[in-house]
Amino acid sequence: MTVTYTVHCQCHATSLALTGEPKVRGICHCEDCRELLQVPFHAVTAWESDQVTVQDESDVLETFAHPSKNMKRIFCRRCGETLYNTNAMDWRVVSQWLIRKCHDDLLPEALKPRSHFFYARRVMDIDDSLPKRD
Ligand SMILES: [Zn+2]
Ligand SMILES: [Zn+2]
Repeated sequence: MTVTYTVHCQCHATSLALTGEPKVRGICHCEDCRELLQVPFHAVTAWESDQVTVQDESDVLETFAHPSKNMKRIFCRRCGETLYNTNAMDWRVVSQWLIRKCHDDLLPEALKPRSHFFYARRVMDIDDSLPKRD
């Protein structure tokens, strides 16, 4: 059975359908995520591009392409919320926090993080029981 999760931006102008199993679910501590999103770490679900479908009003989506990194941030022009970002592999990366917010503040079990990665590059220590990979 294929599962679909729906997330929407803060103003509800646009939404994404996420289909199937994410390729990666974890917490990334790399500097690229920090620089693109201004967060100390990025709690992610990463999907193949064809697993992420924009629903309604795709014209409100704006793309910011980072000038030197091979990454993009896709956000709603009306409310400014980032719906997803892309990485060098052109995966679509959706924040676990956005998914959580759109599911009554509960992250679906199948999307919970399995590990930390690029942990050696961190700017914050995380005290949890997940495996920590460099
Ligand atoms: Zn919006
Ligand atoms: Zn990262």
